[in-house]
Amino acid sequence: MQIIRIHADAPLKPAMGEACNGCGLCCLAEPCPVGMLVSMKRRGACRALRWSDEARRYRCGLMQDAAGHATSWAWLARRLIASGAGCDSDAELA
Ligand code: SF4
Ligand code: SF4
Repeated sequence: MQIIRIHADAPLKPAMGEACNGCGLCCLAEPCPVGMLVSMKRRGACRALRWSDEARRYRCGLMQDAAGHATSWAWLARRLIASGAGCDSDAELA
């Protein structure tokens, strides 16, 4: 069992295949391939994950900086995390 600290206002995870709602569960459980590079670990929360109070959802910090501008990592991150392809995580909250 893995204990994950998640923001109290985070939305519930949708079913696999449904649109990503930024619940953050996947990135809090383990980094994606590019997240492993920036986090230098294979398990636990990705260092690039950011909570947005305004949007009330998690966002990938590699895709946008704090001002909302695309980062130099964005092109690679989009390729490796299949951005926009729907939720691909089978993680479940106990
Ligand atoms: S891919 Fe799924 S688990 Fe990951 S943030 Fe999006 S909805 Fe949540
Ligand atoms: S999508 Fe972004 S925040 Fe999530 S694990 Fe990958 S690099 Fe980290």
